[in-house]
Amino acid sequence: MDHIQQGITVIHGSQELQRMTIELLEAVELAKRIRKNSWICLKPNLVVAQPAEEGATTHPEIVEGTIKYLQTHGFNSITIAEGSWVGDSTERAFKRCGYTALSDRYHVPLIDTQKIGYDSIYSEDFSLDVCDCMKDFDVLINMPVLKGHCQTRYTGALKNLKGCIPDCEKRRFHSEGLHEPIARLNTVLRQDFIIMDGICGDPTFEEGGSPSDMNRILFCSDPVLIDSYAVSLLGVKPEEVPYITRSAELGVGKLYDPADGLREINKEETPGKSFVQDPILKEVASQIDQRDACSSCFANLIEALRQTQCKEQFVIGRAFRDKALCKDIEDRIGIGNCTFNCRKHIKGCPPSVEEIITYLSS
Ligand code: SF4
Repeated sequence: MDHIQQGITVIHGSQELQRMTIELLEAVELAKRIRKNSWICLKPNLVVAQPAEEGATTHPEIVEGTIKYLQTHGFNSITIAEGSWVGDSTERAFKRCGYTALSDRYHVPLIDTQKIGYDSIYSEDFSLDVCDCMKDFDVLINMPVLKGHCQTRYTGALKNLKGCIPDCEKRRFHSEGLHEPIARLNTVLRQDFIIMDGICGDPTFEEGGSPSDMNRILFCSDPVLIDSYAVSLLGVKPEEVPYITRSAELGVGKLYDPADGLREINKEETPGKSFVQDPILKEVASQIDQRDACSSCFANLIEALRQTQCKEQFVIGRAFRDKALCKDIEDRIGIGNCTFNCRKHIKGCPPSVEEIITYLSS
């Protein structure tokens, strides 16, 4: 295996995603890196039940190209596994995002990780609940979307493994601030290869809605390397996303250094622009006291503030179920059912953007 193949390889373009994927996998000679008769898991990002064009989920054409490539090279034991975020149904996402049809067409079973058992694994003394099947696969091919995240700034390869844990564990990850648990998860669940969908991710929000044309698919075998490179495409430094640097510290992979090089299959088609995050996240940061908030709740608040330009102060998150915490913040508006102890609060779990806007307008 040569030096370049160990690094990041990129193919540019926005058309014929299936063809682009196969070309990329041929270029990195993926088949030569997988043992014969391996049971391969493809792990896309179907965080919400929305078509990939919205900027949140993995294009089914990229998964289809991967399946075709693998089957052509004699790998017939392939499974797709995913669990949507808390509050959405994976089954609905499989259907709406085109994966049910894909499964039928190529005889590739789908596993909904929201519906299977789990067991505890330890990363030193840090306990993690991981869905049963995820430890049984011989090869894990992670297929995340390159996109932003309203709480962690960025989500890509490392964070996409959150779909391999049960919903109760996802809630715990949020209560522990996301960064340390995500890094720890990556020490016990190793991803062998990453095929990153960088076609039109939303540079700000995990759940999409404002896709941006990034027009590329990336390949790498190191999640820290690809994340520390990809995050810079959004104008964010790896140090601003603590789970990336923490994963490097824990030995999950190495941080990207431009001196390591980047292999671009069709450099002439580079879009040549960077994709900046919506400044709203920085603008409203001082208005929000966030403690253990779910991403969906937080994202709805941000979107409501963008639309209303409201300058009120807010509290949000499960920590505010504690009455004592709400005592001295009478002037702040609580977002969601968790803040029921606040004098002023907006009901819902999570409250929708419209519900928040209606409350603020009244
Ligand atoms: S109210 Fe918001 S933060 Fe609380 S559990 Fe519901 S979605 Fe999560």
